[in-house]
This record gives sequence, C-alpha cells and structure tokens, in this order.
Amino acid sequence: MSDRVLLSQAHVTELEEEYVLRALRSGWVAPLGPEVDAFEAEVAARVGDGGEMGALALASGTAALHLALEGMGARPGRCVVLPSMTFAASANAVAYTGAEPVFVDSGDDANVSPALLVEAVDTLLDEGVDIAAVMTVDLFGRACDYAAIAPALAERGIPLLEDAAEALGATTAGGAAGSFGRAAALSFNGNKIMTTSGGGMLLSSDPELLARARYLSTQARRPVPWYEHTEIGYNYRLSNILAALGRAQLVRLDDMIARRRAIRAYYADLVDGFDGVRILGRAPGGPDGATGDEGDNCWLTCLVIDGPGCTTDGLGPDGLGPDALIARFGEAGIEARHLWKPMHLQPVFADSRAFLDGTSERLFGSGITLPSGSALTDAEVERVGGVLQSALSASRERRAQP
Ligand SMILES: *Cc1c(COP(=O)(O)O)cnc(C)c1O
Repeated sequence: MSDRVLLSQAHVTELEEEYVLRALRSGWVAPLGPEVDAFEAEVAARVGDGGEMGALALASGTAALHLALEGMGARPGRCVVLPSMTFAASANAVAYTGAEPVFVDSGDDANVSPALLVEAVDTLLDEGVDIAAVMTVDLFGRACDYAAIAPALAERGIPLLEDAAEALGATTAGGAAGSFGRAAALSFNGNKIMTTSGGGMLLSSDPELLARARYLSTQARRPVPWYEHTEIGYNYRLSNILAALGRAQLVRLDDMIARRRAIRAYYADLVDGFDGVRILGRAPGGPDGATGDEGDNCWLTCLVIDGPGCTTDGLGPDGLGPDALIARFGEAGIEARHLWKPMHLQPVFADSRAFLDGTSERLFGSGITLPSGSALTDAEVERVGGVLQSALSASRERRAQP
C-alpha cells in the first residue's frame, strides 16, 4: 500500500477475515447460500427497523437500481425523473430500461431540490408525459428532504425509488435512508460506507416487486425442474463469500460511521473561521451544538468554496477553487476530487430534458470531496488538515492585498 491518502478506502479488519474464511470453509463457494440469506435479513432489519422490509442481495448497486426500475414499469415511452447531480449509475440504470431520464437541479445541500422536483413532475403531468417513477439520490450520505418529497409524490400517485447507494446508516425525520420509497438501492462497492468489494442490495416492502426482481436476477428461470425461460433475465446475484464480507462490515457499520463523523467534525472546525467556505449539507453549529449533519452517515465530507467571485470554471474567490485545491492536495500525496459532475452537463445525456436553476452547476464548480474514509489514521487526517489550512490561509492573505 502506498502512503497516499485516499478518499474512501475499504476498511477491513480481522472480523472480515474471520467471516470470509468461515464462508469459504463452509463449502458454499457459490453465488447464493446461507450468508446471502442472512445478509439480506440483517440489512432489511436494520433499514426497515423491524417492519415488513425485504431485501435482495445483488452484484452491484446499479443492478439494484435497474431491477427496481423494471419493477416500477420503467420502459420506452415512459420517463423517470431524477437529480442531475449524481453518479452516472443512477441515470445509466434508467437508460437500461429504455425510459427517458428527466433531470432536476439540486438544493443547497446538493440533494435534489424538493420544490423544483415537484414543479418538474407537475409540468410533465400537465403535458401528459407518462412518469414511471421518481428516483431520489441521498448524496454523499445525506438523506433527501423526504418530509417534503414523499407526500408530494404520494399525492400524485408517482412511485419513489430511493438511490441510497451512498447513504446506508443515514437517517432523517421519519426513518432511515433506504426506507422512504417503494424500493431503494444500496451499494457495497469498495469505496462506499461499507463494502462487499463489489455488491448491492434492493430493498422493498413490496413482496411482489422483490419476488419479480429475484426471478429476473437469476436469468428469469421458471420454477420448473428443467431450464425454462419465457423472458430475458440477468445474472445479478451476489456471491456467498462476498455476502460474508458484508455481514462483518454490517457489524462494524456504526463504528465506521462514528469515525467518518469525527473526521467531518475535524474538517468543520478547521474551516470554521474562513469566509466563503462551508461543509456541504452542514448548518453552522448552533448554541445547542446542532450541526445539521447528525443524521448523515458522513460518507464523504465535501467542501464548498462559494460566495462572491465564485465561477463554474474551477475558480473560487481569490483563485482558490476546486482545481487549485485538488492540485495542492495532489502534490501532497492526498486524493481529493470534484463533486459528481451533473448529468445534464454529461455529453452522453446532453439530449435529455432537465429542470435547472443553476445550483448543481454552481456546486460542481465550487465543491470538492475530502478524504473521509473510516480507515484513515489521525495522522493522515491531520496531514489533509495541514494542507487545507495552509491553502485557505494563503488565499485569505491574497484577498487582503489585491
Ligand atoms: C456507487 C453508486 C451507485 C452504484 O453502485 P455500484 O455498486 O457501484 O453499482 C449508484 N448510485 C450512486 C449515487 C452511487 O454513488
């Protein structure tokens, strides 16, 4: 391993070794098996809080999104409304079904703007556009404003799919990330809050949706003694060995979240005295100590350098912006990245319809993600802090002498 400080590295311990070894020695070296069943039950219990939720372990979060969309009837001639600021997987899954993606801009915390989302839905409905589903994305480990979104969609009879790939363990008023829609997708990719090295999960309280997804995920094989197929399926299941890794990670999830939260608190203290710099999604600490990120799983801590003089070409006030900062970190052997580039700016989705107010573009032009992984040592986090502190101090001095 290099001594480069990475954004969000897989964090595995002896517990994971134990679980994986046990699975290997059990003889279930196959897709499916008892570890998969147990992993599904444990994640469903955690997110569903003892309710009716069921789960389907899959090879990726993208597969979970794809099967959820299929289950909600996404197909050519219909559209799916989703945020523009997200990872391409959200929009790709829509494209797999043949439905048209329609993008909606962000609010100040980068998550989809509830007001603009409702406006988009109403505009489409007025035009007679057939909306299969709305997909929300809980970006960087922060749940969307479901108190505003969920009732508005229910009123209009539009199903909600929650892309909670980044948000396992996050909560907001009314529940856990992954529990708000008719279905939700989790990801256990190597860089996520917990990992199976690669994997995902479809969550739903709708047994029919889940049963159909389960069937499609194993090549749509009919339940008869020979191989019988009446429609096209996929090979999307998670392997038993990887599910064992996931079960160990789930045991440690709360500890890993606590660590990421502590890292965020450190960065927040550090940027506190600087004008025009904020932690994405975090309210300034009030007298009661509330920061607005208590419910976040703090998967990635993002810095936004905004205020006057900020442009979308990578330059913030005083020439300090994402590109300059990422380069500074890079020279110091630290990985930092831009926020997700909005889908309406991606060449592959250039022809898609979008409801925009400029927020996601502005955030993309002013935000970076900082190393946030739970495996980071204090010394590594302080190395990041040192570079950040010196970059911010230098730019403040420049501002004083034009
Ligand atoms: C990681 C991610 C996915 C895809 O998950 P994979 O397991 O990598 O397929 C989907 N949506 C979002 C927002 C993600 O961050």
